[in-house]
Amino acid sequence: MKIVFYGTKPYDKLYFEPMAKDYGCKIRFVETPCNEYTVSLAKGADAICIFVNDYITAPMIDELHDMGVKAILLRCAGFNNVDLKAAKDKLEVLRVPSYSPEAVAEYAMTLLMTVNRRTHRAYARTRDFNMTINGLMGQDMHGKTAGVVGTGKIGQAMIRILKGFGMEVIAYDVYPNPNLDVTYVSMEELFSRADVISLHCPLTKETKHMINRKTIAMMKENSFLINTSRGDLINTDDLIEALLQKKFAGVGLDVYEEEEGMFYEDHSGDIIRDENLVRLSTFPNVLITSHMGFFTQEAMKAIATTTLENARALENGEELKNRVEA
Ligand code: NAD
Repeated sequence: MKIVFYGTKPYDKLYFEPMAKDYGCKIRFVETPCNEYTVSLAKGADAICIFVNDYITAPMIDELHDMGVKAILLRCAGFNNVDLKAAKDKLEVLRVPSYSPEAVAEYAMTLLMTVNRRTHRAYARTRDFNMTINGLMGQDMHGKTAGVVGTGKIGQAMIRILKGFGMEVIAYDVYPNPNLDVTYVSMEELFSRADVISLHCPLTKETKHMINRKTIAMMKENSFLINTSRGDLINTDDLIEALLQKKFAGVGLDVYEEEEGMFYEDHSGDIIRDENLVRLSTFPNVLITSHMGFFTQEAMKAIATTTLENARALENGEELKNRVEA
């Protein structure tokens, strides 16, 4: 199977290149992201492989179909960036439903503890031999209440970690899991009781901007908000307004509404025109990272393995267990 691999980074090649042959795949790595201007690079390929900030619209699906491309291989779990309705009967869409839920949950906890104990700021100070600790005071997590929104694979891993910290955990999910040892509450109750809110639900029409002025008003003063899921879950304007009113003790964002084209690239020499991103970066209690919750050795290996297994299953006409449908 010939695959055009969009948005290639050195770490992608490191995992995919040595494994490709074993799965009967020939990969052409391109660095450009996949969009309407670059879709033509897929000419001659059987499949394309894309990541979270690539997107596939209906006209792009038609173009791929006309070129003879048979499949879109998502090397990630989320699939909100592909027009699935348009893909129906034209292209198979396959994803990596699970690679390492622990990687993302452990990262969510890392963000929480960093913004809580201000270790990112302490690091900058001590490197400059400024050994003062004023302004770096945090809170004990032990005995606090954590609210987990979305109790799928990552949410469950997060619940285990939070319990390990001695926290009381409450959860909200549209499909509560009866086998889970957690107290389900309504979304409103979760927002009003939790000292820490961690988002682990997918981006859908229903979840877009679930964190907005109205829901933020329900939250406790001095609480923590962590988002390792998708940027669009939060209305950024409303979040900034709340931060200006000193609503939150800390906010950790691994994802951002306007991250496409910004994250995963070096913009250190650029004039940044995204005023919300610049504003968010100025708050001492906000930490933004570049969508890297997944980024562990174990997760990268699992992503490459499942993506190539998906390609092989397609080539051999086997059952497509990781197919995504509208
Ligand atoms: P999952 O499908 O196992 O679980 C998602 C859960 O959310 C399900 O239990 C579902 O019922 C629930 N849900 C759906 N709609 C909801 C709603 N309106 N309100 C509350 N809950 C709702 O998914 P997962 O593997 O746990 O991943 C969760 C999300 O994490 C993904 O959708 C993706 O956006 C994000 N993610 C981020 C990274 C990263 O690097 N930061 C990596 C992987 C996944």
